[in-house]
Amino acid sequence: MWFLNEDREVILNSVKEFVRAEVAPVALEIDRTSEFPVDLFKRAGELGFLGVTVPAEYGGSGADQTTLALILEEIAKTLPVLTVAMGAHSLLAGGLIQMLGTPEQKKQYLVPAATGEMILACGSTEAVGGDNQVEFSTRAVLDGEEWVLDGSKVLISNIGVADMYVVVAVTADAVDPITKTGLSAFLVPAGTAGLGVGRPEHKLGWHGSATGSISFTGCRIPKESLLGPLGGCLPAMFVSATAEFLSCGPVSLGIAEGAYAMALEYSLERKQQGQALFDRFQVSRHKLVRMYGEIESLRALVYATYAERDRGELCLAQGRLLKVKGAEVSEYVAREAIQLFGGVGTVVETGVERYWRDAKVMAIGGASVEALMDVIAGLIKRKLA
Ligand SMILES: Cc1cc2nc3c(=O)[nH]c(=O)nc-3n(C[C@H](O)[C@H](O)[C@H](O)COP(=O)(O)OP(=O)(O)OC[C@H]3O[C@@H](n4cnc5c(N)ncnc54)[C@H](O)[C@@H]3O)c2cc1C
Repeated sequence: MWFLNEDREVILNSVKEFVRAEVAPVALEIDRTSEFPVDLFKRAGELGFLGVTVPAEYGGSGADQTTLALILEEIAKTLPVLTVAMGAHSLLAGGLIQMLGTPEQKKQYLVPAATGEMILACGSTEAVGGDNQVEFSTRAVLDGEEWVLDGSKVLISNIGVADMYVVVAVTADAVDPITKTGLSAFLVPAGTAGLGVGRPEHKLGWHGSATGSISFTGCRIPKESLLGPLGGCLPAMFVSATAEFLSCGPVSLGIAEGAYAMALEYSLERKQQGQALFDRFQVSRHKLVRMYGEIESLRALVYATYAERDRGELCLAQGRLLKVKGAEVSEYVAREAIQLFGGVGTVVETGVERYWRDAKVMAIGGASVEALMDVIAGLIKRKLA
């Protein structure tokens, strides 16, 4: 592959070994129980997969974005939800700390986050207005030397297991609908009085992402817990969200590849009247060819975009496009994989239908593809693509 080099191959081999020896044996069990994979998450930290792009001075490997994509793709082939938890930790919460934090805050939080000693969550979405920040109502008011937070967030990943929540709250009378100023980010440690952590929701897919609600009732945190400029965290959120959308490219690619590999193997093995399904039915082999074609198109788009990112481009539109295309391709490939299996494809223990469930959530979690299409349209119109 044109995007591989010696350094990346070394890391890729260590990811493959991690997945083979530690992830694959428990993947179906995590999907069945919906338990957040704490041990695997911590192990990913030990192996350096949580701080891939974090500079070495803050505990990371200082590697490039393409290396991160390779790691995510490889893990997603076997356990997509682990990459989702990694994204909420490293890209959403970690990304905001990296962009907005003071050098002291970065040392204090990014270093343990990179090794997995500290788990991060990012609380932005609210029940009213979804991801439309103008309608947010969680407030932070300065009272002497402390901020007091009141409000709630929904559908937040890594809850319960997180040691630190990066939370977005309104710090003005209202969020300005034009400039979008008035929102600030805060660091809220788990266990703070007034921070309520709900139970993870029972979801269609991404079982084990520990996604649910958190609430704030007179929740007091020190004045120094403000992350970045007062009222001005939104530009950084736009960039950290872009990193997360980009990551949906390799994660979706991994999901599609995982489903495709199972379907191909099954089609070659399952026999009807002495013939493998692959040899007996043209429709089966043509399905596989189309799936293969979609996967290779997505791979080309993913690694071309990550190469641009490594050249310093922000990839605001392309990053969002990776999420849109990735969701489409992974959902299509996983759906066809179930069809190629026939009846056993619908059985949870077979392990193929979970790829479809995870792909479906990919089109919503983090941002709906419909909302992203409009953002991409705006970027194209302003020639920012
Ligand atoms: C598994 C999972 C994990 C998540 N993890 C986190 C997390 O860690 N942190 C966090 O802050 N949030 C998280 N979220 C929340 C996620 O970001 C939101 O669900 C997402 O942004 C959509 O918002 P909503 O659910 O309120 O849907 P709504 O905004 O109510 O939208 C509903 C539907 O309306 C349509 N729609 C909405 N807006 C537009 C638009 N602008 N243009 C066109 N159509 C539109 C779409 O079809 C959309 O699916 C997570 C969600 C899920 C499902």
